[in-house]
Amino acid sequence: MIRKLLRSLARFAPGHAHGRGHARGHDPKVHKASRIGIDRRLVSSGAIRTVEGLQQAGYKAFVVGGAVRDLMLGLRPKDFDVATDATPEDVQHIFRRARIIGKRFRLVHVLFGPETIEVSTFRAAAGDDHETDAHGRVLRDNTFGEQHEDAARRDLSINALYYDPLSDTVLDYHHGVEDLQSRRIRIIGQPERRYREDPVRMLRVVRFAAKLQFDLEAKTTEPIADLADLIQNVPQARLFDEMIKLLQSGQAFSGLQQLRRYGLHHGCLPLVDMVLEPEGSEDEKQQSLAFVKLALERTDQRVQQGKPISVGFLFASLLWCPVYRHWKKLEAQGMKSVPGLHEAIDQVIDQQLDRLSIQKRVVADLREIWLLQPRFEKRNGQAPFRLLSHLRFRAGYDFLLLREAVGQAPEGLGAWWTEFLEAEGEEHRAQLVQRTNTRQASSSSPRPRRRRRSKPAAQGDGLVLSEGGTES
Ligand code: ATP
Ligand code: MG
Repeated sequence: MIRKLLRSLARFAPGHAHGRGHARGHDPKVHKASRIGIDRRLVSSGAIRTVEGLQQAGYKAFVVGGAVRDLMLGLRPKDFDVATDATPEDVQHIFRRARIIGKRFRLVHVLFGPETIEVSTFRAAAGDDHETDAHGRVLRDNTFGEQHEDAARRDLSINALYYDPLSDTVLDYHHGVEDLQSRRIRIIGQPERRYREDPVRMLRVVRFAAKLQFDLEAKTTEPIADLADLIQNVPQARLFDEMIKLLQSGQAFSGLQQLRRYGLHHGCLPLVDMVLEPEGSEDEKQQSLAFVKLALERTDQRVQQGKPISVGFLFASLLWCPVYRHWKKLEAQGMKSVPGLHEAIDQVIDQQLDRLSIQKRVVADLREIWLLQPRFEKRNGQAPFRLLSHLRFRAGYDFLLLREAVGQAPEGLGAWWTEFLEAEGEEHRAQLVQRTNTRQASSSSPRPRRRRRSKPAAQGDGLVLSEGGTES
């Protein structure tokens, strides 16, 4: 109780952000939030209740990080983080549903219905007392500190704004508002030191530049080329999370290209190497790049339309081309289509899995999408109906459309399935299947070799095999 009273008094003491005569070098610029474009109606009720609860108990509390950045850009934040001078235990006492999580970085999840607000205690600036690895990477960050220290240890100026929705103010310690207005990515503090403390910051810098289409400040990018290799010391799981965020940023292809431009892709993120520098003949390389580019463009469109992205589908697209190349090679060696595909998948997955640290659930998902592909070519009898009722039909169908667009599937196959999918009722579907089978029977024999010598299939029947077609 006494501690709370002292804290309340401290809020009005000199040195506090709202007071006058602040401690030198630590003063934030105070903005009226509504005047810099923040619409309080875009703040979730959970975030407001968290800030309110903490302030009423005598603590400081602000919405921080990505949410403030997004609010200033007029976007609805996808989640809300709150920063406070209350310790995790204090926070847990204030809210009915709250639990402390994290080891390297302890924080509290406060739950309101389906919404989770992440509450973190102001951290002290990284100093000599922080536990680091041999390269200077901070391993544990649980030393609590002052608000200005918390601001200084955030990554970018645009991510270091503190918004109080109750008083309609934004506290800005590092010219983040100015950088947001001039669309600039700038790291806080001395860039080299900040990247050594946490090499993932290099990836974040690139990701935010791509996502927001902001310019990168020269001082921020200058040390990256020399330090890029430090990424190799970062645990794979963290890199994987960062990759997912980049791929779901709405600017995935340009994000990958930026990674490459700054030398952040080599060795450390094998997937990026594989995607941007595919193997194979010149034609195969072109096809692989075209496939990935198209897949990522469609992903970006979905993100921009606010639609959900399946991580399985994303990785199925990124890893597909090596599988396809291998599959075709095995077929050329006389292997049957379906066993060939199984074998190609096993080989690529075995090779990549350790290096990519993709979760097992995601691997199962992409395997399923790939294995559906040959089934799209079987259009007789009950086969199309069985495929349509498959749980992953939609993903498999979307994937087929991508393959067809780069000439990896018989031309017209996608359109056939679109017609089948959109046909009204079983009867129409059955008619379509029957029509197709009659035409198929009259225009070709089952052996592709012989078919080539016989009369070509009638034009426009949607059954002509394109180069690299997968019919077996
Ligand atoms: P988004 O969630 O949209 O990707 P974000 O900025 O909210 O963006 P988070 O990873 O959720 O990103 O992090 C929340 C905040 O924590 C950031 O805005 C930043 O202030 C701080 N932060 C996150 N990662 C780091 C880091 N590696 N180094 C320093 N500060 C960081
Ligand atoms: Mg966030």
